[in-house]
Amino acid sequence: MAHTTNTVFRDDAYLAETDAVVVAINDRGGIILDRTNFYATSGGQPGDTGFLIRTDGSRIAIAATITGETKNEIIHVPAAGEALPEPGEKLGLSIDWPRRHLLMRMHTACHLLTVVCPFPITGASVAEDDSRVDFDIPETGFNKEEVTARLMELVKADHPVFTRLITDDELVANPGLVKSKNVRPPVGTGQIRLVCIGDNGVIDSQPCGGTHVRSTGEVGEIHIGKIEKKGRENRRFRIRFGPPPAQ
Ligand SMILES: [Zn+2]
Repeated sequence: MAHTTNTVFRDDAYLAETDAVVVAINDRGGIILDRTNFYATSGGQPGDTGFLIRTDGSRIAIAATITGETKNEIIHVPAAGEALPEPGEKLGLSIDWPRRHLLMRMHTACHLLTVVCPFPITGASVAEDDSRVDFDIPETGFNKEEVTARLMELVKADHPVFTRLITDDELVANPGLVKSKNVRPPVGTGQIRLVCIGDNGVIDSQPCGGTHVRSTGEVGEIHIGKIEKKGRENRRFRIRFGPPPAQ
């Protein structure tokens, strides 16, 4: 039977350290806790790395965090050769915060890109230094300088970023909230988590389970590194940190 982990990262993306109790070690050596601040790989955002701290001060390095049988069963995958804790053991939890913060800035940047390019999303991948979003776009009306300028307007306006829960029925009544062409948000749990940008979500609102910064200003300087043609009607936009490289 799948365990249900209290996913505290969904309520507080800024919780770098916390503690938890070991619930189980699965048959592949994955560590399952009663609660966690480690984000598990999903929705294009990679899972957290970091370490667990035992009461004697020794550390268990965590190489990856993934979901198990359900989205709410979070599995901490220890690095090779690490000692395993015992069920019932209390542990400190410490995520690699500088890495996570880069991923949060990038994930929010990807949402801003979907505002600048309001087309169906066919894929996305968030990474520390280079993220991508793929869109179905009928023709190339976009150049990277113009998209970068519009992204930076949204960053500089420092719009608030927050989450809101809606019901399945509200989602059905507002199909425009779903920007992904292939991935439908999970319905049937009764609640959908929206990530909203701007006062009352006026800039953007879309279903997303990822971790985000508090305001668009925290994204910092970004630019479009490349717009690649992936098919007749598909374009891949690559987002990078920092100013555009000098021509
Ligand atoms: Zn997202």
